[in-house]
Amino acid sequence: MRVKFWGTRGSIATPGPATLKYGGNTSCVEVRAHNHILVFDSGTGIHNLGIQLQKEFPSEPITVHVFISHTHWDHIQGFPFFLPAYKRQNRIVVYGPPGRDKTLRQIMRMQMDSDYFPVALGDMNPSIEIVEIDAPIRIGDVSISHFYLNHPAMSLGYRVSDGTRSVVYATDNEPYQYTLPPPQKADKRAGLPEYLDDKLIEFLDGTDLYIGEAQYTLDEYKAKLGWGHSPVESIVEFSLRAKVKRLALFHHDPYHDDAFVDGMVRHAQELLAAQESTIECFGAKEGMEVVL
Ligand SMILES: [Zn+2]
Ligand SMILES: [Zn+2]
Repeated sequence: MRVKFWGTRGSIATPGPATLKYGGNTSCVEVRAHNHILVFDSGTGIHNLGIQLQKEFPSEPITVHVFISHTHWDHIQGFPFFLPAYKRQNRIVVYGPPGRDKTLRQIMRMQMDSDYFPVALGDMNPSIEIVEIDAPIRIGDVSISHFYLNHPAMSLGYRVSDGTRSVVYATDNEPYQYTLPPPQKADKRAGLPEYLDDKLIEFLDGTDLYIGEAQYTLDEYKAKLGWGHSPVESIVEFSLRAKVKRLALFHHDPYHDDAFVDGMVRHAQELLAAQESTIECFGAKEGMEVVL
């Protein structure tokens, strides 16, 4: 299985000299598993992925499975610029959660309304399939399961398995331990935050690569409670408890330059080393490829 990062930034694209190392494009990760092309999120990074796919498959028809975590702009805004979706010979399947009061299809169409973009969704490739996920997906020998995250939108994490290796893409998640009020004695919610976070840890169990959101330091996070994002300390803790093999810090904050992200990566590595962990931790960089 091969994983390639095409966009690692959260919230808004942040190009420029201060973000050259980790990249400025928003969320997009490509996974090749048993030769199937899977894409996680269509932030602005999907534009360059599309160009690369056109070079790799200039005439051959391809099938691309695009899994959307949620429809906040930094996860869908690149889709109208995804060139393979304009070729009628290609099969493009978009999976994701339904919106709060709109279907996934309505949301994807609305961002391409003529007030925002000159081409309608149906005019790209009229056969683009849109699938609202309610059960595990199977693509040949590859399985993709999903998990609802804690974020101010219907938001999914995905686990891809090819039978021997797995990767979990779980970005835009706020740990419940900070957001739910501490339970009183005899409160029915006693243990609920831990229980809900434990469910994510079960989902991550032993994965070869956890692509986890680390938008904030713990100090920054305290001022952003309820925004739906994680302090880096939490995903280190989740990784330790789930015994993942590798941890990629992802969804870098647009206010963090390369030096700041370097510091967050070092901090995460020190936390892991203090627990004598063998988890390999790195900051996800645009263009970086990981072979599992
Ligand atoms: Zn995001
Ligand atoms: Zn979001």
